[in-house]
Amino acid sequence: MLPSPFQFERPSTIADAVRAVGDSGDSMFYAGGTELLLALKMRVIRADRLIDIKGIPGLDCIAVNDVNEIEIGARCTHKKISGDPIIREHVPALASLCAEVANIRVRNVGTIGGNLCFGEPHADPPAMLAALNARLVLEGSSGTREIHADDFIQSEMETVREPDELLRLIVFPRPAGPVTYRRFKHGERPSVNVAMAWSLNADGNTIKSARVRAGALGSRPQPLPAVESALRNVAVAEARRAIETALPDALDQLEVNADRHGGSDYKRHLAGVLLLRNADEAVIAGGSWLK
Ligand SMILES: Cc1cc2nc3c(=O)[nH]c(=O)nc-3n(C[C@H](O)[C@H](O)[C@H](O)COP(=O)(O)OP(=O)(O)OC[C@H]3O[C@@H](n4cnc5c(N)ncnc54)[C@H](O)[C@@H]3O)c2cc1C
Repeated sequence: MLPSPFQFERPSTIADAVRAVGDSGDSMFYAGGTELLLALKMRVIRADRLIDIKGIPGLDCIAVNDVNEIEIGARCTHKKISGDPIIREHVPALASLCAEVANIRVRNVGTIGGNLCFGEPHADPPAMLAALNARLVLEGSSGTREIHADDFIQSEMETVREPDELLRLIVFPRPAGPVTYRRFKHGERPSVNVAMAWSLNADGNTIKSARVRAGALGSRPQPLPAVESALRNVAVAEARRAIETALPDALDQLEVNADRHGGSDYKRHLAGVLLLRNADEAVIAGGSWLK
């Protein structure tokens, strides 16, 4: 099916893009178009005007800022992130995640911003960015605001972003310990995924704090607070045992939707398996973190 006719605009500044989207209620930002064009063609969404953000300079930069945070422009493609030297050095798990998203055609043009803003529950980046304690910087007609990655996706295909807000930047602290990510997928998109980020003490042998997020189970990534508190101040070598002890309660607390990826018991079980695989990888990575 072809999409309904729409106009196309190519602004060269964020301010013009925000103004263009705000001018009419039926305009949408257009980045790689991998989700948007499919949805328009299937006529599950409708837009009178697409505002192409690809001509806006600076939206596809990756850098370490003055306060040791990593910044990723929202228009960075999965391909760019997977090959970027800063990401490969400081967050190799994010580089690998992006290298495995979808297929090469989607990775070449699909952007991390489009992925987040679409709010599809079966996505890879949202759980990882929440584990990294990322903030999302939005620019709209009312100014700039920052939203924690944990608070951005509200439910299936729904985010807190206002229609005229452009996601400009994703920012997170440079990791202070191993970051790991495991997904299981038997279709195009992940059925279940788990991301974990540890912050290690200066000696490198003890976990100061941990952030654990499970994605694709419900409508948005979820924390596993029982696992996070079980890992606090635990020796790296004891991490797996600590997780195993906390796991049954932690899995019970997750909200899980049965869907075409599996029943809720199955998906909950998968989350546990993936978490333990994360732990095994983090223990090995933790040993070499400070060397
Ligand atoms: C075949 C296929 C397989 C896939 N497999 C996976 C997978 O394994 N894992 C995974 O995580 N994802 C997967 N995806 C999703 C893919 O990651 C996304 O399609 C892509 O990242 C979306 O980015 P885009 O630039 O194409 O977004 P677009 O299609 O351009 O936009 C998507 C939505 O976001 C809005 N938008 C885009 N950029 C911004 C911005 N900067 N600010 C505000 N709003 C914005 C648009 O208005 C639109 O509503 C798959 C997609 C396809 C088609």
